[in-house]
Amino acid sequence: MTASPSHPETDPALTAAMAEAGLTPGRSPAPVRLPDAAPLFAGRAARLRHLAPGHSLEAWLSFLAQVADAQQAVIGAGDGGTPDRQWLPDLRALMARLDGRVPDTARPAFAALAARLDGDPADGDEGVAGIARRLMDGSAGPDDLAPAPFVVAALQTAWTRHAAGLDPATVAASATAFGCPVCGSPPAAGVIHTGMEAGGLRYLHCGLCHTAWHHVRTTCIACGEGHQLTYHALTPAAGDAAVHADTGARAEACGGCHAYLKLFLAEKVPGLDPLADDLATLALDLLVGEEGFRRINVNPLLVLAG
Ligand SMILES: [Zn+2]
Ligand SMILES: [Zn+2]
Repeated sequence: MTASPSHPETDPALTAAMAEAGLTPGRSPAPVRLPDAAPLFAGRAARLRHLAPGHSLEAWLSFLAQVADAQQAVIGAGDGGTPDRQWLPDLRALMARLDGRVPDTARPAFAALAARLDGDPADGDEGVAGIARRLMDGSAGPDDLAPAPFVVAALQTAWTRHAAGLDPATVAASATAFGCPVCGSPPAAGVIHTGMEAGGLRYLHCGLCHTAWHHVRTTCIACGEGHQLTYHALTPAAGDAAVHADTGARAEACGGCHAYLKLFLAEKVPGLDPLADDLATLALDLLVGEEGFRRINVNPLLVLAG
């Protein structure tokens, strides 16, 4: 918190912003917001169903809403095992819930994954575990992308259950941490809280375990430089009412290292779910990609959607 422009105990606006973000002002170590497993995936499903109608990715967003429904149903189960032991049982439970509800385009991938899980347990699990490993370390090949929505959903479920069960006092992050303080993943997106566009707090959001952590603003989270940052937004097309509303999405692009981070302004996006809104603003990724910037992280669901 040392780089923040004001001190939380003495700044009412900052205190309000932290309260809005579910944080306790003045806490030390630096604030980390663990996920609340009870409403998280239900909220995502609702958000995806709000964003889907009329969207160019409508079928995909609607399908992911069904996946989120299944995640919400499964996250309450689990035997307390560590995420690396729990994700495979979670995958089986998710597959059972999604059986018969998968759209035509995803059906072959669903059937192939189910066959691997139903086959010889050692072969099948090792094969599926290999997919998970490659998705998480960024080395996924073309054959890994079709089963990715199901495998990623299982990993998210297991890791989010784990993160939600941690004691917040045991989790700390520096104000310039790049990786998630719980699972080490790069952030999926950032969120600026709230009503303070000029001086609000920035939280980075993990796309795996859904922990959020504070990160100082106006520095590139990849290289730490702040001198060459530019902010990019989608420009609503004239006369196109469907895209006239501000999506609240900004790309914070760094001219030094040519990386960019997707940011959302919470005040402009009631009902924001960073991962759902990330998918729904793919057009912004295409825009900054054309300008020569690369995304800081790879969202396997975004790769598929494209
Ligand atoms: Zn995480
Ligand atoms: Zn940079």
